[in-house]
This record gives sequence, C-alpha cells and structure tokens, in this order.
Amino acid sequence: MKIGIVGAGLAGLTAGLDLARAGHKVVVCEQAAEPGGLAGTFPFAGTRLEMFYHHFFTTDLQTIALIEELGLQDKLMWRETPMGIYQDGQLLKFASPMDLLRFTPLSFFNRIRFGLVILYLAKLKHWQKFEHIKAEGWIRRAFGEQAWEKVWGPLMHGKFGERASEIGLPWFYSRVHTRAGSRAQGMTKESLGYLQGSFQTLHDALVKALKHAGGEVRCREQVKALRVKGGRIIGWTTSRKTETLDAVLATPAPPSLWSMLPKGLKGDYWDRLRQVEYLGNVCAVLTLKRSLSPIYWMNIPDVASPFIAVIEHTNFISSETYGGKRVMYLSSYLPVDHPRYLKSDQALLKEYYGYLQKVIPDFKPTDVAAVKIFRAPFAQPVVRAGYGERLAGTATPIAGLYLANMAQIYPEDRGLSYSIRQGRNAAKRIIQT
Ligand SMILES: Cc1cc2nc3c(=O)[nH]c(=O)nc-3n(C[C@H](O)[C@H](O)[C@H](O)COP(=O)(O)OP(=O)(O)OC[C@H]3O[C@@H](n4cnc5c(N)ncnc54)[C@H](O)[C@@H]3O)c2cc1C
Repeated sequence: MKIGIVGAGLAGLTAGLDLARAGHKVVVCEQAAEPGGLAGTFPFAGTRLEMFYHHFFTTDLQTIALIEELGLQDKLMWRETPMGIYQDGQLLKFASPMDLLRFTPLSFFNRIRFGLVILYLAKLKHWQKFEHIKAEGWIRRAFGEQAWEKVWGPLMHGKFGERASEIGLPWFYSRVHTRAGSRAQGMTKESLGYLQGSFQTLHDALVKALKHAGGEVRCREQVKALRVKGGRIIGWTTSRKTETLDAVLATPAPPSLWSMLPKGLKGDYWDRLRQVEYLGNVCAVLTLKRSLSPIYWMNIPDVASPFIAVIEHTNFISSETYGGKRVMYLSSYLPVDHPRYLKSDQALLKEYYGYLQKVIPDFKPTDVAAVKIFRAPFAQPVVRAGYGERLAGTATPIAGLYLANMAQIYPEDRGLSYSIRQGRNAAKRIIQT
C-alpha cells in the first residue's frame, strides 16, 4: 500500500518507520521546516535545543525502547535533577520524602497526609472507578484544603487555567502514579533522561531509518485536503501536489484536522472529535549570562504567576554543552485567544520578567543575553471528567483514514513515550487491515 502520513512529530515518524519496515510505501508530509513537532529543536550554541523543554522519565519505556532500537544508547543520558517549589517567597526543595517533611507551607499533619495519599495513588492500579470524578473535589477531600490551596490548586490552574475545575481524576491519578513509579527506591531519587545533541538526535535517526526502509519525509509541505471518494481515502492535496494514496494516518491535533477533511461529516465518531479542546503554550527560552538558581524544575504554585514553572535547563544538562551559556525556559499553557498568548514578545517578556523578579529577587533583565519565544496552539488537551468515554479511536468512519494524536492518550498525561505508543499502535492497526 502507499500510505501518507500527515505530520513528522514522533507519532508520525514512528508509525512511518514501522509501516515502511512492514513493506509499505510511506510518504510523511510535514508543514514545518524540520521534523520533530512539539519536541522540535532549533540551532543553539553549536548544537540543538528544544523549543519547549523536554526530558523523559525511567517509566517512559517506549521512548527508551525506541532509542535502543535506533542504536542511540550511547547518546542516552540520565541525570539526577534538583527539583523545587516556590512558596511564600521561598525556594524549597520538593523531591524526596525528607523534603516533604520539611515543607513548612503545609502543617505537619497535612505533610503526613500528603505523603500517604501519594503512596495510595502510587500503589493503586485500577483507576477506572475515577472516570467520572473531577480531580479538584477529590484532591480537596483526600489531601485537604491546605494542600489544594498551597500546591495542587495553583499547579492545576497553571496547567489548565480556567478549565482546571473540570479536569478528571484519572489524569491527576496517572500523573502522580507514573511519576512516583519513576523514582528509584520507592519515593526517593529520580533521574531524568535526555539525549546528547537534544531530541533532534532521535528525530534525525528516525528519518534516516525511515528513508533506509524506503520511506520519504517531505518538510515545508502542508497537507491541504484529504481526498475522499465513496467513503474511502483516495489521496491528498498538499501545498505542492495532488497524490494518490491507499491510506492516510493523520497525527495533527483534531481541531486542526477539519480544514483537511470533507465538510459536514456526521456521526458519533466526528462528534467525539469535535469535543476535543486544546490549550496552547507560549514558551520563552532565555539565554542567561549566569545561573539564577540551583534548581532544574521549580514549580510556581501561584495563580498570579504568568508561568507555571521556572525551568533552568542547564541545571539538568551542563552549560558546557552550550559553550558555557545558561538556558532557562518560562512557559504558560493558555487558550489561544487568551491575552497573554496574543501578547507581543516584548509585552510577554515584561510580564515574565516582573514575576521572575519576585521568585529570584536579584534577577535583572540584563542577566538575559538573548531570548526566543515559541508558541504552539495545540499543546495540551483538556482532559475533562468522563474524557475516556469520549475518546475517538484510531480507525475513522472513512475507510483508509486513521488518526494518532495526543488527544487519544489517556489516562496518562501526553508525552513523548505515549506519542510513540500511539504511532506504533496505529501502524499495527493499519498493517492488520
Ligand atoms: C510545552 C511542552 C513541553 C513538553 N514536555 C515534554 C517532556 O518533557 N517530556 C515528554 O515526554 N513530553 C513532553 N511534551 C509532549 C510531547 O512534546 C508530545 O507528546 C509529542 O511531541 C507529540 O508528538 P505527536 O507526533 O503526537 O504530535 P506533534 O508533535 O504535534 O506532531 C504533529 C505534527 O503534524 C504537523 N502538521 C500539522 N498539520 C499539518 C498539515 N496540515 N500538514 C503537514 N503537517 C502538519 C505539525 O507541524 C507537527 O509537526 C511536551 C509538550 C509541550 C507542549
């Protein structure tokens, strides 16, 4: 079969590789200049750097397996990373049970309670009973009001904004469950994974393997329309040409698929797809003249904060990698019509710097040597209670059209490993038909 894949993110590239290796003729079309999608990179200090901060956990088995399969083991790096939380004007470590015991924003009783609930969620296997329960009410009851006010409420708000109160408990459960699982020795140390040369190393190796298996990857080419005749896919029209195809796997976010699909599609499957909502992300990558804190990932549980976390990447990957330059990410998840998402770069930085000065009082804008700002309109699906019952599957009612996207990842939070899993499962599904 000749199979077209829309999108050269990890889902598209991995599916493409499996399909090409199974003997199909594969064409991947990517609208951006380079492959990688949300895990894409840009040239930085003689190497590459992610536009949006990326790492993986020891529990991200699909990522690790793919890295090994592509022979990239020697590029794989594990680093124990300092994690923290900004609370009431203080930077507090928040990575181990000892850190929790010393976490004075919570009463002693609530610290013990916090640890016990985390342990409960870490051990729990059957989450399906949570399907219709909203995370907020459950967290308030289980962890207590203080933990909601001081920790979880602002963090959920940072991730989902005004939609935080609608988020389902399975999403929260899965975040805590997988994260606890990624800590070695129960709940103590945690190592995070990265690749030498950035995630570009993975994208490049995937493209190379795909081409080696006879596939094609075409960047700067947008799929404009999927061609459907008699209820089945017959090809696509891209910004460069019209092509005949036997099947198509589309990996972009559902809201961006409508412009490619025939108008007026009716039925349960399309209704499910129409219900999928996303938040965008706006992310500033600061090149710093000096390190601003000893922490890699510092959560900011404050609803007044314009960013969800201060991520000093060079406390994870040595600044020597970048010729001594220090790198920090500041990022927010927002609806794409939110005033902050739409702000000019200059106005956004003014807001970011103003708050950064609160967190790191001796920070000055002159500490920043350069800035790049990236925006992604489809960064985070809004995973409301009952989401699992509204998932749209891989096969669509249009014969030969398949979908693999972040909105189908559930109950886990979207991530590289799950996108690889989506891609691989979609390829399997296509091969079986
Ligand atoms: C801010 C942020 C931080 C993250 N951090 C982490 C992390 O630390 N660890 C982790 O595991 N995961 C992280 N993720 C998630 C991870 O990036 C995603 O799970 C993964 O990259 C999604 O891959 P994908 O292929 O499913 O989708 P995408 O990467 O979105 O790929 C879809 C591709 O389709 C292309 N496309 C869209 N429309 C068209 C068209 N009409 N024609 C041609 N091409 C088209 C797009 O350009 C894109 O390249 C993060 C995500 C964000 C937003």
